Amino acid sequence: MNKIIKEQIAKLKPSATLAINEESSRLEKSGKKIYKFGFGQSPFPIPDSIVLALKNNADKHRYLPMQGLEELRFTIANYLNKNNNNNFNKENIVIGPGTKELMLLTQIIFKGDVLLPAPSWVSYQPQALIGKNKVHWIQTSSNSNWFPTAKQLEDKIKNIKSESLLLFINSPNNPSGTVCNNLQEIAEVAKKYKVIILSDEIYSQLNFNGQYKSISNFYPEGTIVSTGLSKWCGAGGWRLGFFAIPNQLENFKNSLKILCSESFTSVSAPIQYAAIEAYKVDHSKYLNSVKKILSFTANYVYENLRSNVINISKPEGGFYLFPEFNNANFSSSSEMCKDILNKTGVALLPGSDFGLDSSKMLARLSYTDFNGGNFLKNTLGSKKLDTADLEKNAPNIVAGVAALKDWSNSL
Ligand code: PMP
Ligand code: GLU
Repeated sequence: MNKIIKEQIAKLKPSATLAINEESSRLEKSGKKIYKFGFGQSPFPIPDSIVLALKNNADKHRYLPMQGLEELRFTIANYLNKNNNNNFNKENIVIGPGTKELMLLTQIIFKGDVLLPAPSWVSYQPQALIGKNKVHWIQTSSNSNWFPTAKQLEDKIKNIKSESLLLFINSPNNPSGTVCNNLQEIAEVAKKYKVIILSDEIYSQLNFNGQYKSISNFYPEGTIVSTGLSKWCGAGGWRLGFFAIPNQLENFKNSLKILCSESFTSVSAPIQYAAIEAYKVDHSKYLNSVKKILSFTANYVYENLRSNVINISKPEGGFYLFPEFNNANFSSSSEMCKDILNKTGVALLPGSDFGLDSSKMLARLSYTDFNGGNFLKNTLGSKKLDTADLEKNAPNIVAGVAALKDWSNSL
């Protein structure tokens, strides 16, 4: 029966992030205590006004335009221009059911090779394989904050024959939790070789120091900005994301629109109406509270885990940390994560899922295993958070980190 499956599809496994989420739930249901540090999703509730907008638009039942609701696209273009110094208009915006779907369609459209910094989010490479685009990894390290240097990028490009290249940059980064501080030099190299950049900015509003910069500022004509509702406002399950595509890439945008129309048609109408509220109104109060909790939690994990045998880069945004266990000696990072899960109940994803050599004892830790609604409510108005707040509101983080530390000490 395998004859009916295309070769590049038969090679795929379920996405590592969703697989660890389901495995963690299965183990939990079987009675085992699991620290769910494997999957990354916002623990916080969606702001009330956005939920209300969804309720008020539940009666919207017509199919919407393939590119997305005009008023939403207009609102998003203004939002990007204001926050990020861009110059988009509503025609530059394409709305999709999550950016993951738009990225998949991108790989189906794009003819050329794909450049991925290692580490990169788990889905970029499988999606490139689905689209039959060759992937070239650029191995990075904590020395350059887990992003490629201009020299690494240029050396790689010079060794590739393909005429068109697509480079993914994701800052704040999943899995390393770091922010790219050499965007300009990366943009200059991309510009020189006419490489298209897909700037995955899904965590941009969760940049802990607040000053987010987009690589599109340095190379507007060649950068596609990708972001959406999933992370900053806790609406991953609503499935709404978008691309902002510059005029110079109009052919690509037109092909993307066609694939939207031939696949999901248009994103759920009530969700698109509700998203207008998400991008029209200032949610900085909510975001500041969310970031305060995330950054306190991240720093707690960082401070308590790092040691002379565990290296971690300082958290700068998003949901993740990327510890390296230098005293661990397993045949692969995946075997290490199995051992950790069996012995401690802490679920992590191995560095190899993010394109790192499997012999490097790296794992991604997502510090979102807590009830964000309660955490927000219980600390409302408090100026500074302390460890007692974390012990009360995020007990799994405290206990899971302690278990991980014990595991590392026992090696
Ligand atoms: N990029 C990165 C780096 C992510 O972590 C995620 C999370 N799923 C996505 C893209 C896709 O997000 P969504 O499809 O929900 O927009
Ligand atoms: N982005 C989340 C993660 O990396 C999960 C959602 C997904 O992979 O689609 O864990």
